[in-house]
Amino acid sequence: MSDLQERAQALDTADGLAPLRKLFTLDDTVYLDGNSLGALPRHVPARLQEVLTREWGELRIRSWDESGWWTAPERIGDRIAPIVGAAAGQIVVGDSTSVNVFKAVVAATRLAPEGRDEILVDASTFPTDGYIAESAARMTGHRIVPVAPADVPGALGPRTAAVLLNHVDYRSGRLHDLPALTAAVHAAGAVAVWDLCHSAGALPVGLDAHGVDLAVGCTYKYLNGGPGSPAYLYVAARHQAAFDSPLPGWTSHADPFAMTPGYAPADGAVRGRVGTPDILSMLALEASLDVWDGVGIDAVRAKSLALTDFFLECVAAYAPEGRVTSVTPAAHAERGSQVALRCEDAEPVMAALIARGVVGDLRRPDVLRFGFTPLYVGFVDAERAARVLADVLTGSAAPAA
Ligand SMILES: *Cc1c(COP(=O)(O)O)cnc(C)c1O
Repeated sequence: MSDLQERAQALDTADGLAPLRKLFTLDDTVYLDGNSLGALPRHVPARLQEVLTREWGELRIRSWDESGWWTAPERIGDRIAPIVGAAAGQIVVGDSTSVNVFKAVVAATRLAPEGRDEILVDASTFPTDGYIAESAARMTGHRIVPVAPADVPGALGPRTAAVLLNHVDYRSGRLHDLPALTAAVHAAGAVAVWDLCHSAGALPVGLDAHGVDLAVGCTYKYLNGGPGSPAYLYVAARHQAAFDSPLPGWTSHADPFAMTPGYAPADGAVRGRVGTPDILSMLALEASLDVWDGVGIDAVRAKSLALTDFFLECVAAYAPEGRVTSVTPAAHAERGSQVALRCEDAEPVMAALIARGVVGDLRRPDVLRFGFTPLYVGFVDAERAARVLADVLTGSAAPAA
């Protein structure tokens, strides 16, 4: 056994989070795509079966009340809250991230001081955020200013209404400085909206501690909620009374069953709701969050950094010279929980990796992406992934320039 293989085993043995792996349904592939679709916690199918048979099949309409369906969006929001550093009562679960970006951006322009006409948007944003922000800007009479997150402080001004940023860049894995950028946005009198899709469940976010105004995120990546599981919206308590949703559906009404023609918003996080929640996905998410019981996000972060460090070390030791370059920052303060490697022939390389049981993904044209989910990925996995990658790279000649 090589030195790196021995170290990998020792690191797994010493890892306090390693026992969590058995809570998930996994096989002997190395699954490094939990940043796209988290693995299935083992107990979720039985819970969903119960929801189908008992709650829907037998109780039917009574379940809205008796099975707690109606209040699920806020209840599950409160389960996500500690993972992202929020006190209870500020997160509501529902809709997709895309829809929540729309609510948050429009609401941010309505919270901002009068007369401001610019929305700064992360120039490297995940596409949906950019598309939605552009439409929100057109509808509200604002202008979009694309800006690299690091350049936000210099781009802020008296015209800035709101700023929409990704906490971790989905392509490179770069972590942006949420505390400093939020403070800069506030110093300019604007409203900060953060997209947490690639940070929630992977690292401490500290929404309350850093005074974030509004935030959104998905639950099917590091939170393992399942394909298409509902997203969430965070509205800081201090903004809730003024939060003016552009999608004021009946379930966010102060008295939804009064069925009145006029809209009166509910108090609190409920105000972020729109229509009838998708209960099956929502309750799968709720069950999947059980794996977080007793897990501290600081321990998750420590393991995530150790895993990505170790994977980079193994890649450097094994991979043929010059075939891959990391585009993920080396500095811990700038790294999310994935490693992105630039590789000229990324597409066939990723196909070969998957065929050999190492599942990452591809961001065209030339990025190999490996997500490290500390709840169920270990150091032996990281070493094996790097070894198989090196094998694939050695076996396939570099493409002619
Ligand atoms: C995954 C992801 C999304 C996904 O949006 P959906 O509406 O769930 O499809 C949005 N933003 C970011 C930054 C993402 O990483």
